[in-house]
Amino acid sequence: MMGIVLVAGLIVAAKWGWLRGVLVIMAGYAGSCRRFPLARCPICSGRGKHRRDDAKVFRRCSWCSGSGARRRVGPVVYDTLSG
Ligand SMILES: [Zn+2]
Repeated sequence: MMGIVLVAGLIVAAKWGWLRGVLVIMAGYAGSCRRFPLARCPICSGRGKHRRDDAKVFRRCSWCSGSGARRRVGPVVYDTLSG
């Protein structure tokens, strides 16, 4: 998805200028964040827990509280700017 947006932005930038290309990329990223606001937790790789090597015991990931998900940068920035 973001690859398509990036290519479209580069084409628009080459044809109509870099500012319009950046606007296309930003609009594409905003649309992607609206449809998919969550991403995989980078600490536990989306598993939501950390296991001992023998996998008999585990604990919840403290970073994502065991959900395995984190909010993407776009929604966090939007919420911060909109108050
Ligand atoms: Zn996690």
